[in-house]
Amino acid sequence: MNSDRREFIKIFGLGSAGMMAFPMGLSAAELQENDIIRSAESAVKFTEKKMETDVLVAGGGLAGVCAAIAAARNGSSVILVQDRSRLGGNASSEIRMHVLGANNPGKTRLWRETGLIEELKLTEAATNLQRSFHMWDLILYDKVISEENITLLLDTAVMDATVQNDRITSVRAISPLLEEYYDIQAEFYIDCTGDATLAAVSGAK
Ligand SMILES: Cc1cc2nc3c(=O)[nH]c(=O)nc-3n(C[C@H](O)[C@H](O)[C@H](O)COP(=O)(O)OP(=O)(O)OC[C@H]3O[C@@H](n4cnc5c(N)ncnc54)[C@H](O)[C@@H]3O)c2cc1C
Repeated sequence: MNSDRREFIKIFGLGSAGMMAFPMGLSAAELQENDIIRSAESAVKFTEKKMETDVLVAGGGLAGVCAAIAAARNGSSVILVQDRSRLGGNASSEIRMHVLGANNPGKTRLWRETGLIEELKLTEAATNLQRSFHMWDLILYDKVISEENITLLLDTAVMDATVQNDRITSVRAISPLLEEYYDIQAEFYIDCTGDATLAAVSGAK
């Protein structure tokens, strides 16, 4: 097994994204090495795409959605990379944390968070009376794709970054479903992954 194959298996064979490439019901450990190598050989033929933008936002939770919309409305082109099929992160239908911000039923009841959070909450108040989480997902999706300056990449994960002179010069992302890799160059990179993935792969302290 050459080093490229080992690297591929290390990254994808044990990662959740890579599991999609394997036959249903089998764990990586149950597969024969040859099967893994066949998967690796087909996957490394993923289409390579180069993209350029003003702002790259990694992670499409509430922080990423707000960062992307704010940048887009201020005239920047934005690529928003979200590794799930929907936006919202912890606040999506997948985890179901209602957005409260500064406002909560306790002592700060009269406080309101303004800006984009307020806009999202007002849209929800007008269009999602039952506070259905699936409708909330669609509100976030609609807000994002309504911005001409935003290119949304769902089910796409930021996995690596190139750094020169302590600055990120490009990030690498992967869409296992489309079988595409993206090499994305931006002026600014915003890490909204919730766990600082982009910072970590960039070697930030
Ligand atoms: C149990 C619990 C209760 C909470 N209660 C409240 C509350 O009452 N009020 C309140 O205001 N806040 C609350 N919070 C906090 C709130 O959920 C978070 O502050 C908020 O969701 C953080 O948003 P975020 O966008 O920074 O991160 P997240 O919501 O974590 O979103 C990050 C997104 O980035 C994606 N991502 C990660 N890695 C990558 C990658 N490499 N490439 C692409 N995408 C990636 C993730 O899939 C995720 O969708 C609570 C959180 C928890 C867990």
